[in-house]
Amino acid sequence: MEYDVIVVGAGTAGCLAAKTTAEAGLKVCLIERKRRGDVGRKICGDALGEHHLRNVGLEKPQHGELETRIEGVRIYSPDLETAFTVEHEDFSGYMLNRHSFGQWLLNMCLDRGVDLMDSTQCLEPIIDGSCVKGVLVKNMKTGGKFHVYGKVIVDASGFLGVIRRKLPPEMNIENSISNGDVEACYREIRQLKEENDEAEYCEIYLNQKVTPGGYTWIFPKSGAKVNVGLGVCMREEFPNPKDQLYRHVLTRPVFEGSTLVDGGAWYDPTRRPLDNMVGNGVIIVGDAACLVNPIHGGGIGPSMLSGYLAGKTIIEAVEEGDVSQNALWQYNIRYMEQYGAKQASLDVFRMLLLTCKDEDLNYGMKYKLLTEEDVLKAGLGEEFRLNITETTRRVFRGIRRVRFLNRLRVAVNLMRRVKAHYRSYPASPSEFGEWQMGTLALFREAKSKLMAE
Ligand SMILES: Cc1cc2nc3c(=O)[nH]c(=O)nc-3n(C[C@H](O)[C@H](O)[C@H](O)COP(=O)(O)OP(=O)(O)OC[C@H]3O[C@@H](n4cnc5c(N)ncnc54)[C@H](O)[C@@H]3O)c2cc1C
Repeated sequence: MEYDVIVVGAGTAGCLAAKTTAEAGLKVCLIERKRRGDVGRKICGDALGEHHLRNVGLEKPQHGELETRIEGVRIYSPDLETAFTVEHEDFSGYMLNRHSFGQWLLNMCLDRGVDLMDSTQCLEPIIDGSCVKGVLVKNMKTGGKFHVYGKVIVDASGFLGVIRRKLPPEMNIENSISNGDVEACYREIRQLKEENDEAEYCEIYLNQKVTPGGYTWIFPKSGAKVNVGLGVCMREEFPNPKDQLYRHVLTRPVFEGSTLVDGGAWYDPTRRPLDNMVGNGVIIVGDAACLVNPIHGGGIGPSMLSGYLAGKTIIEAVEEGDVSQNALWQYNIRYMEQYGAKQASLDVFRMLLLTCKDEDLNYGMKYKLLTEEDVLKAGLGEEFRLNITETTRRVFRGIRRVRFLNRLRVAVNLMRRVKAHYRSYPASPSEFGEWQMGTLALFREAKSKLMAE
C-alpha cells in the first residue's frame, strides 16, 4: 500500500504532522523505533510555554500531562549575586509529565486513523531520481527489513535526522550539523527531601566554567521533584556534562539526601533553522531541522509548530497532486515567518553569550548593562534598540566593560539585520541560492565579530 504521508519519528514534531494530515483525511503512517508505550519518554527539561499549545490549536490536556504551573524564569549571574526574574506570558507555562504528554499526542494521532508502526527503525530514504519515494525500515522485534512507500516523507526523527543525513546535495539541504551548534546535555529527575520555596520559577544558572556556552537548570516538578541538568556547547574541548552536574550542581545543599528518579544524556541543536527544509517528496521538522530556540534550547513548541505547518502544507500539496520541492516550499515560508526569523536572530545573541566572560556577565547583570527588559525582548525575539540616552547611561556604567558594551551593540545591530533578511525569505526555490549567500555572509560576520576571543 502507498501512503499519502509517512512520518518518521513519533516525537512532538512527528505527532503534530501526523495528526494534522490525518485530520484532513490523508492516509498516514507513523514510524517509531520505540515501543508504543515508551513514546513520550525523552531526555528533556520538560518546560513548555503555554502559548505553544495555543499556536497549534491544542486545548490544554487535562489528565496530569501538565504537572506544575510555572510563572516565569529566574536567571542567576555566575557569581550568584544578581538574579533576573523574567515574568511574561511567553515565559509562563507548565512543567510537563513528558511521558503522558507524548502519549496524549500519540493517542490523538491514533484516534484520527494514523497507522503506527512502533518498534520499527527507519534506516534510510528511498530515493528515485531526484525524489524521495519512501523509506527502508527494520522491524526491531523480528529483524526483518522492508520498504514503505508514500507521497511525502516527513523527517521527524529528532537530532539524528535519519532522512536528512542521506538526502542528495541537489536538494540544497544541509546533511550534517556542526558540533559548535549543538549542546551536549545531561539531566536527572531527582526527588528532594523538601519542596523548594520558589516552586513556581524555572531557575537558570549561567557560568562559563561549569557550563561553557550553556547553562544549568533546576526546574520544579510536582511532589518535591526537580528536573535538574546542564548543557555545554560542543565546541573545542568541552567537559562531560554528567561529570559537571555531579561535581558542581548536585553538591549543593538543596540536593543533600535527594534520590535519583531518572537520568540520561542527549543533544540539543541550538542554531538558526536549516536554511531550506524541503525537497521533492520530503519535509524536515523539529530537531531534525534544528528548530530549537538557540538561547534557552526550548524545542517542544517550535517542533509542534513545524509539524503543524508541515502538515498544512502537505495537505495542500497532495490535494494539488504536486509534492515537488516547489510545491512544499510554502512550509519554509510559513515557518520562517512565524518562528524562523526570531530563531535566526537569537542565534546571533547566542554567539554573543558563547564567548561572554563570567566577569562581564557578573558586571553586566549587576550594573544593568544588560537589563531584564533586554533579556525579555531577546527571548521574545523583539528588537531591542539601545536608544541614545539609554546608550549613554550604559556607556558611563560600562566604562570598565567597554568591549562588552561594544559587542552588545554589534549583536543588537546584527540581530536586526538578520531579522530583516529573513523577512525576505525567497518565494520559490529558484531564488534560494542568492538568499542563502546573504544568510551565510551575515552569519560569517556575526561569528567573526562576536566569537573572536
Ligand atoms: C536535555 C534536554 C533538555 C531540553 N529541555 C527542553 C525544555 O525544557 N523545553 C523545551 O521546549 N525543549 C527542551 N528540549 C528540546 C526538546 O526536547 C526538543 O526540541 C523536542 O523534543 C524535539 O522534538 P522532535 O519531535 O523534533 O524530536 P524528538 O522528541 O527527539 O522525537 C524524535 C522521535 O524519532 C524517533 N526516532 C529517531 N530515529 C528514528 C529512526 N531511525 N526510526 C524511527 N524512529 C526514530 C525517536 O525515538 C523519537 O521518538 C531539551 C532537549 C534536551 C536534549
